[in-house]
Amino acid sequence: MKKIAFMFVCIQILLNGLGVNAASNISYKIEMLNWNEVNELLPKYTKFTVLDVETGKQFKVQRRAGSHHADVQPLTSKDTKIMKRIYSGKWSWKRRAIVVIHNNHWIAASMHGMPHGGGALQNNFPGHFCIHFFGSTTHRTNSMDLSHMLMILKASGKLDDYLNQANPYEIINAYISGFKQQDAAITGQSSLQKITWKPILKKVENVKISRMEQLPPEDLTEEISLAVPVVVDWYIEDRGRQTFRGAIHLVRFSPVDAWKVDSLDFVRKNNFR
Ligand SMILES: [Zn+2]
Repeated sequence: MKKIAFMFVCIQILLNGLGVNAASNISYKIEMLNWNEVNELLPKYTKFTVLDVETGKQFKVQRRAGSHHADVQPLTSKDTKIMKRIYSGKWSWKRRAIVVIHNNHWIAASMHGMPHGGGALQNNFPGHFCIHFFGSTTHRTNSMDLSHMLMILKASGKLDDYLNQANPYEIINAYISGFKQQDAAITGQSSLQKITWKPILKKVENVKISRMEQLPPEDLTEEISLAVPVVVDWYIEDRGRQTFRGAIHLVRFSPVDAWKVDSLDFVRKNNFR
C-alpha cells in the first residue's frame, strides 16, 4: 500500500511540474533496472530528468561518461541551481534516492552531490557527479556502494523488503549508513523505536564502523536478541571526533520477524540526547 502511495506521489509531482492535471489516468511503475540495461537505455550524451524522492524537485542532466555508473552534468545553470537547493545549498557526497525519468522509464537510482573531475557544459557546475543504478560500482571498487544500494532500494519502494530479510550485521550497516547519509527513512526503518531522527541526523558530519564482531549469520537463526560489539567513529557538528566502543543491541519478536536496532540505548550512549 505504501509503495503505491509513494509512486502516486511521484507521478503527481511530475504531472504538476508539467502543468498536467494530477487526476489523469497515467500510471508509471518505478523499475529497479540493472546497470547493464540502463547503460543501453541511457547511452553517453543522453539527456534525462532526475527526480529527488524526498523533496520532489527535479532537474535535467546529460550523461557524459562513466562505464560502471553514469557520470552526468546538470544541463543548464538553472538545473545546477535546483540540484544545489536539493542539497540545502551545500555540495556534498551524501547519497540521495532519485528516480531517473527517460521516455516511458522511471528508474530507481541514487546520486551524490559533489562536483568533481571535468565538466564540459555551460552550467555553472564545476565538474560532474555520479548516478548509480542497481549493479553499479564506484570508480575504485568492484562491488556496489552500500549507501547507493540502500538509496536505490528506497527509490524503488523495496527498502522494507530488504530490511525485513537482512541479517543483524546488514541491519547495523544500514542503520549506520542512514546516519552517514542523514536519511531518516533508512535509520528509522532499521530502528525498534520511532524517534524524531532529523535533529539527531543533522549533527552527523561523518560516521564509520571501524570494527564489528560477527558470528556466522546461520548460527543466529533461533536468536531473538543479540549484542554486537562495535567500534564506531563519528564526526559530529560542534563536537568533532567521537568514538563509540560498545555493543549495538538488536531484537526481533520471533525468528521470522525483522531484526531492529535498540535505538534508545544507542542514541543515549552516543550522547545524541
Ligand atoms: Zn563517477
